[in-house]
Amino acid sequence: MTVFLCSKCGTTITPELAELTAVPDVSGNEHDRDKDTRRAPSTVPRGHYVIDSEPWGPPYVVQDDQENPKPAHARGPLVSHEEGFVVSAGTRHTVLVHPDDAAHLQPLPDGENSQGCCGPTGGEGPNRACACGVRVATLAADCFGPYELHLDPVRTYAFTQR
Ligand SMILES: [Zn+2]
Ligand SMILES: [Zn+2]
Repeated sequence: MTVFLCSKCGTTITPELAELTAVPDVSGNEHDRDKDTRRAPSTVPRGHYVIDSEPWGPPYVVQDDQENPKPAHARGPLVSHEEGFVVSAGTRHTVLVHPDDAAHLQPLPDGENSQGCCGPTGGEGPNRACACGVRVATLAADCFGPYELHLDPVRTYAFTQR
């Protein structure tokens, strides 16, 4: 089992979690979303984590094939900027957890990096902070795209008990 902690202050961020070998294929289809929050089912079930090999968040780069664009993030929607469809060239190997397994992280003042429709898209950069102030994670919880929390692989660290 593995616990994740803040790299700066050492505060525990998650309870003991078991590693998944692959990112679950969770449907974000309209009829699978919560009727009140409009969120997709959480990508990762409670009590688990998985390392996401795909990039997440900014910066974004214009995709080569504008005729057949792919989503800007795995499990997310197509994103178009002025120059065309873009794809994330952000942080790889973030740690995906159920948002409720890190429930005491705080949003940033003035809703920074938390724009969205029904919740933050999570596409603007880290939007959840440790009590010490370090931005340790990015929450995605909007009515399109996935429902998941990405722990930053540098600002957090894993402690595994064997
Ligand atoms: Zn901290
Ligand atoms: Zn919405």
